Amino acid sequence: MRFHNLYKFFCKFQQQEQAAREEAEKANQAKSIFLATMSHEIRTPMNGVLGMASLLHETSLNTEQAEYVETIRNSGETLMNVINDVLDFSKIESGKLDLDPHEFNLRHCIEEVMDLFAGKAALNGIDLVYQIGSDIPLNLLADSMRLKQVLINLIGNAVKFTHKGEIFLDVSSNRRGLDEELIELVFQVKDTGIGIPQEKLTDLFNAFTQVDSSTTRKYGGSGLGLAISLRQVELMGGEISVKSKINEGTSFYFGIQVQISHQQMFHHTRCFMTAKEGKRILVVDDNQTNRKILQMQLEQWHLVPVMASSAAEALLLLDQKGFDLVLTDMQMPEMDGVQLAELIRAKNALLPIILLSSIGDETRNKYPHLFNFVLTKPVKQQQLCSVIQMGLEQQFHVLETQIYKASLMNAEFASNNPLRILVAEDNLINQKLIVRILNKLGYEPVVAQNGMEVLALLLIHTFDLILMDVQMPELDGLETTRSIRSTDMIQPVIIAMTANAMLEDKEMCLLAGMDDYLSKPLHIESLLSVLSGISEKL
Ligand code: ADP
Repeated sequence: MRFHNLYKFFCKFQQQEQAAREEAEKANQAKSIFLATMSHEIRTPMNGVLGMASLLHETSLNTEQAEYVETIRNSGETLMNVINDVLDFSKIESGKLDLDPHEFNLRHCIEEVMDLFAGKAALNGIDLVYQIGSDIPLNLLADSMRLKQVLINLIGNAVKFTHKGEIFLDVSSNRRGLDEELIELVFQVKDTGIGIPQEKLTDLFNAFTQVDSSTTRKYGGSGLGLAISLRQVELMGGEISVKSKINEGTSFYFGIQVQISHQQMFHHTRCFMTAKEGKRILVVDDNQTNRKILQMQLEQWHLVPVMASSAAEALLLLDQKGFDLVLTDMQMPEMDGVQLAELIRAKNALLPIILLSSIGDETRNKYPHLFNFVLTKPVKQQQLCSVIQMGLEQQFHVLETQIYKASLMNAEFASNNPLRILVAEDNLINQKLIVRILNKLGYEPVVAQNGMEVLALLLIHTFDLILMDVQMPELDGLETTRSIRSTDMIQPVIIAMTANAMLEDKEMCLLAGMDDYLSKPLHIESLLSVLSGISEKL
């Protein structure tokens, strides 16, 4: 009898536990849906705010006005980052984060991340340096988007919390176990920033944790970045850890499992210094990490680097003669790259000189006669290889690597990429915004308020491209696309423009028959690349 009661109690407990679990799951789902909806609701007006601020930025403004517009844009971008973090975190919490492994090139992936921070680092006078172990095969199979997200977060933090010195990304590899095709990539992001107190290190990877409450006020951020990175690294089969000393700097380490790609196994580097082996290169840089990396790189190419940590040391070495090329940094204490180059030119008018400069540094443009080439840091390996080769062949040319353009939008764009465009958008502000942007590019788009109007317009006009909002009254973007795709009319390219930021939303658009996807707030660069891509294919 007693046993029977105990059994009944046990069954009831199990049922209750099951019900509680279901309840929790439902609550979690409700939370995810709530966050996704909120994110959509915030994105739609933010598209108007950021887009109009971008348009305003392109008009003639005085310095004060330009500063205000820049602040609106920066704050808007920051808000969008927080929203993306919250959305990502909720996806991870509800177990919706999946890996999407694909072939990618490790060096390109890292160079893209470095490019994102080059401007900010240069502005703060910080050296941004990276090194990839020479034994690592570069063609790999993994989820490079997730890897990039972790790197962006760690390097973003390093840039945020470092006011002097350098940020160094090192990538090495561990071959483990019996599987020849599997390697562990080990990343270290090391900075010389403000550091983190020992007692705070253990909590750092918990959500919404910042070292102290003044952090948000001073540096911004949501305290979610590291919690997301931890989950992403775990998903990629690795672990993340941190070491730090207050006022000295912080190092984050993480490892991920990657597969070596079958397509091009052990493809080291495409640089071949044919007939240039043994050439003597004088490298001048005050930053020790930079010198070490350049030295290793040049030695790998079978060149003979001689290192100098200042312009004065370089001049002494140059007196010994016998150098084939000089590679010099721009920003150095006491004597900078330009002053050094002037002194070298006075003695030897023909010695090739390559300058390593920073984004936004205009000095180099004033001295084109001094340098055979100017490269922007962080230097891409392939670029360095080509300019050294050309320098050794005595070619003279200033390589234009300036990233910032005065104006992204000009009316010539449409003449170079002619397209008949239909915009389907129900929100008035967003409609005005996209039409203004397209006008500025020289297009005269036709506008439809909803899917029914799109179908009606297609009966009388031919369009090359439809920019299609997804959520519209009467007939939404997905239904409209399905209808268009089911007819035998000449098929336009259809690109979704939507504030739904989840990966599943993109899949839904593609499944409905759309060709691509632009998320709101709209990035003008992304729009430009989509438009030129379409016009190339027509
Ligand atoms: P967020 O940067 O958005 O606040 P994170 O989770 O990325 O959130 O970082 C949490 C906190 O950890 C930061 O607010 C900061 O206090 C500390 N932190 C992270 N990286 C560094 C770093 N490189 N140097 C100093 N402090 C850091």
